[in-house]
Amino acid sequence: MSSTHLIKGKTGEWEVVIGLEVHAQVTSKAKLFSGAATAFGAEPNTQVSLIDAAMPGMLPVINGWCVEQAVKTGLGLNAQVNLHSVFDRKNYFYADLPAGYQISQYLQPIVGKGELLLDLADGKSRTVGITRLHLEMDAGKSLHDQHPSQTYIDLNRSGVALMEIVSEPDMRTAEEAGAYVRKLRSILRYLGTCDGNMEEGSLRCDCNVSVRRPGQPYGTRTETKNVNSVRFVMAAIEHEARRQIEVLESGGTIRQETRLFDPNSGTTRAMRGKEHAHDYRYFPDPDLLPLELSEDEVARIKATLPELPDDKKKRFIEQHKLSAFDAGILVSERASADFFEAVVTGDGKLGDGKTGRDAKLAANWVINDLFGRLNAAGKDITASPVTAGQLGRLIGLIQDGTISGRIAKDVFEIMFETGKDPLKIVEEKGLRQVSDTGALEAAIDEILGANVEKVAEYRAGKDKLLGFFVGQVMKKTGGKANPGVLNELLKKKLAP
Ligand code: ADP
Ligand code: MG
Repeated sequence: MSSTHLIKGKTGEWEVVIGLEVHAQVTSKAKLFSGAATAFGAEPNTQVSLIDAAMPGMLPVINGWCVEQAVKTGLGLNAQVNLHSVFDRKNYFYADLPAGYQISQYLQPIVGKGELLLDLADGKSRTVGITRLHLEMDAGKSLHDQHPSQTYIDLNRSGVALMEIVSEPDMRTAEEAGAYVRKLRSILRYLGTCDGNMEEGSLRCDCNVSVRRPGQPYGTRTETKNVNSVRFVMAAIEHEARRQIEVLESGGTIRQETRLFDPNSGTTRAMRGKEHAHDYRYFPDPDLLPLELSEDEVARIKATLPELPDDKKKRFIEQHKLSAFDAGILVSERASADFFEAVVTGDGKLGDGKTGRDAKLAANWVINDLFGRLNAAGKDITASPVTAGQLGRLIGLIQDGTISGRIAKDVFEIMFETGKDPLKIVEEKGLRQVSDTGALEAAIDEILGANVEKVAEYRAGKDKLLGFFVGQVMKKTGGKANPGVLNELLKKKLAP
C-alpha cells in the first residue's frame, strides 16, 4: 500500500486498522429454528412462535433453507465450507432475549476463511480476508418510545436467521471499509441470500477500529455497534480513528470498549467497557445436533451460483471491450448488468442487417443517459420507463444512421416521458436524419447564397467559418442533417 492512507497527527503519522463484522439477515420466509414469518414491518408480536417466545419445553428445528443460504454465501466469498459445524448457546440476560441465550455458532462455524475483492476509486483492487461466517438467531426488540414509563418488547425479530460475516483487520481507510460493505452487499444480492436493505436492518455493521504507528503491532481496538448505512460506516470509522489519535497523542490510552455511533452528531460514544464485557459461557446447544453437510450437497449448491460481480466484470471487459471503470459500474447491481446486456444483445435489428450493437455506445447510454435520468426521477433501474429493448432500438437507429446522436438525446427524453418506441417517435416527429445529398445540397445552396460575404472570407482562408455554415444548415434542417454527409458536401461546395 502507498503511504497516502496515513493520517497526520500532531506528533507524526498514524495508520488506521479496520475489521468489520456484518450481520446479514438471511432471505427466508421462516425463522432459523421455527416456522414463524419474517416479513418486515408486521404489527409487533404477530410473527412469534412458541419457540421464538422461549416457552418451556419447545424444541428448535433447524431451517434447511437458511443453512443452504449460508453455504451459498460462503461459496460466493470463495470460502471454506465446513461440513461439520456446531450450534452453541451464547448466554446473557436481556429483556428482548426470552430464552436467556442466543443460539449462535462459536468455535465451529459453518463457513471458514474466504476473501473479498475491493474495487477502489482509483481503479485498483485489494483483497480483504474473510475470517468466518456463522449462522445465528436474532434477538427481539425493546420499544422505549411507546409508553412514557414502560418498555415494550416486540419478538417479531426473535429467531430471525442472521449470517455474521467477520473480516480480517485488513482495511486501512474509511473508504476501503465503505467499498467492503458495498461489495459484500452486491455479492449477497447477486446470490439472493440477503436483500442488503440497510434501512430495514437486513444488513448491520459493527466497526472495529484501532490506530498504530506504521510498522508497529496492532493497537487496542474499539467496536462501534450496529451502524446501518455505508455513509455512517465511513463516518463512524473516520471519527473513531481521529478520536483515538487524539487520546494517544495527549498521553492517554485506548480502552477496549463497545461504542455507539450517533448519526446526528457524526460522533461515537462509549457504551460499555471490556470490564463489563459479558462472559457468554458458550456451550453446544443440547437441543441441536451438530450440523453435518455432505460434499454432494455443497456441490449441488455450488452449481446454483450465478455469475458473480468479479467474473461478470472480467467478462464485460473481455467480451464487450468495456473499460474497467464502466464494467465496474454496470456489474455493481445485477439488474444494471442484466439491463446493459439486454441492450447490447437486444431484439431490434440494425438497418444494415447486422444484429450486434456497439457495446461501448450502449454502456455510455446506460451509465450516463439512463442512470442520470433515473436518478433525477428518483427511480430504480427495475422501474425504468424505457425498456432495454427500446434503448437497444434507439442505439440501433443511431448506428444505422437513421438519427444522429444529438437527435437521439431528444428522442430518449420523449421515450422516458411517454414509454413510446423510438422509431414511432422518430416517425411522428419527422426526425429522420437527412443523408440524401440532393436535399442537403439544396439547403446548403440556400445558406451559401444568403451569406456571400462569409463565403468569400472562408475562401480567403478563414477556415473557422465552416462551423458557422454547418450550424446554419443544421438549423435549416431542424438538426436532422447527417453531420458526416453535411461536412463533406459543405467542404466540396466551399472549395474555391
Ligand atoms: P471478538 O471475538 O472479541 O469479536 P475477534 O478477534 O473475533 O474479536 O475480532 C472481531 C473483529 O475485530 C474482526 O473483524 C477483526 O478483524 C477485528 N479486529 C481484531 N483486532 C483488531 C485491531 N487491533 N484493530 C482493528 N480491528 C481488529
Ligand atoms: Mg465480535
